[in-house]
Amino acid sequence: MLSNNSSLTQILPSQAKRRVSYYYQPDVGLYYYGPGHPMKPHRLRMTHQLILSYGLYRKMEVYRPKPATERQLQRFHSEDYIDFLKKISPDNIKTFSTLMQKYNMGEFTDCPVFDGIYEFVSTYSGCSIDGAVKLNHGLTDIAINWSGGLHHAKKSEASGFCYVNDIVLAILELLKYNPRVLYIDIDVHHGDGVEEAFYTTDRVMTVSFHKYGDFFPGTGDIKDVGAKAGKYYSVNVPLQDGIDDASYESVFKPVIDKVMEVYRPTAVVLQCGADSLTGDRLGCFNLTLNGHAKCVEHVKSYNIPTLVLGGGGYTVRNVARCWTYETSVLLGIQIPNELPFNDFYEYYSPDFKLHLNESNAENHNKKDYLDNIKSRILQNLKNIQGAPSVQMHPIAPDAITSMSKVSNGGNAIQEFEDKYPDKRLPGINKDGGELVIKQEELYENDQDNDKNNMNNNEGGGDDDEPDSKRPRVRQYLTSPKSRHTGSSEEDKGNSDNNNNDQGVKNDPDTVSVKNEEENTMDVSD
Ligand SMILES: [Zn+2]
Repeated sequence: MLSNNSSLTQILPSQAKRRVSYYYQPDVGLYYYGPGHPMKPHRLRMTHQLILSYGLYRKMEVYRPKPATERQLQRFHSEDYIDFLKKISPDNIKTFSTLMQKYNMGEFTDCPVFDGIYEFVSTYSGCSIDGAVKLNHGLTDIAINWSGGLHHAKKSEASGFCYVNDIVLAILELLKYNPRVLYIDIDVHHGDGVEEAFYTTDRVMTVSFHKYGDFFPGTGDIKDVGAKAGKYYSVNVPLQDGIDDASYESVFKPVIDKVMEVYRPTAVVLQCGADSLTGDRLGCFNLTLNGHAKCVEHVKSYNIPTLVLGGGGYTVRNVARCWTYETSVLLGIQIPNELPFNDFYEYYSPDFKLHLNESNAENHNKKDYLDNIKSRILQNLKNIQGAPSVQMHPIAPDAITSMSKVSNGGNAIQEFEDKYPDKRLPGINKDGGELVIKQEELYENDQDNDKNNMNNNEGGGDDDEPDSKRPRVRQYLTSPKSRHTGSSEEDKGNSDNNNNDQGVKNDPDTVSVKNEEENTMDVSD
């Protein structure tokens, strides 16, 4: 079924040839957050299968990196937190109840403890770090890790389904060789963990496009622009429900063009969270694959070494569609709308097509609103006087991830399948037993069992359940955290407005400064 699919693809003559590498560890899709949890690593297997069946696999160098080591994870995260992640398991939760609270994990949070959690986080982190190492050495132009992009994780705390922040780790690796790294985030949620880590440095510029106002994580106000040496090097683009392809592009392109012009990054990290797509189970935007991938194509057009990562995405069949299509865009290859047969073909019922249509949801981003945020952001960017340069010191040794190259074209698919056969039903269990996921959970439509179990529809405020009975994912869905904003000398008295403030009615010159410096990275030189 997987052989002889090359006729499905067609190389676009207009696309400049880029060396694209792909990082995938087959085990990563076998982990399981628990019954009803919307984050399903299984989507990574579906994506991989679709990439295989379209034959895209043959056009990339494919790597299967080793998991990140404890020391690598501690380059950003605190030792005690990583130590805890190593020790914790569903069997010993009770003995760690105080620490569970400290690290924002377990019951009543959106970050459950599940079997193999430490292996999971080190697996996806190893892939991102490995991609960064390859980019640093000019061994690839574009590195793709769809299992990465977990942008909410903090130095000593899990958040929003994220335990370890592979993005921060990869950027730290890139900073060994790059004076300026640009981070772009098109997930529907604010890229708070990455922004916070680099809030006070000009060596990393973070640009996040996200839904803002009564939405997790509650941060990402347009007024949050960075602090100290990093002032004006954090960019937040607050958007409203129902944004469509044309509206999104009308903000994304001018903002990114200006950022490229003033910042001149030497490397880019692009987080492609697919929860900004139309019909996402937790998201509220109305982007099609075309609108989402246009951002990827636009970033690619700058021809700067780029690490492309996944992120959120909770309607799993659309996540697989999106990241497969974006892989084709990065390769400069056109693929047909008719989905090729693959191991998870029935998930794409009833249409079995690649592309999505916009819904008829109302677009709450009127032209005036978008024009206003665009002009405020372009105004802020005028404060950047020339791209910062840095005296590069003798370089720290590479993170060693012992890249094992799986294949480079040819019989890649068969080779990979032979080496790492893909099981139909996921099974990861330290005791050797098979942990079977209910198939209904993976369909994400009206057959989806989760919706009956979890009451986790967007907004979800219409139930009368006491807090103690609420399902653990509610935190991600409904309770924005505002603790990272509004606490500064410049923004005092405004903290109550953080969750609902649409950002446009305030003085563009007023910026807020975060008060979380203990979590930021010192990378000024
Ligand atoms: Zn998200």
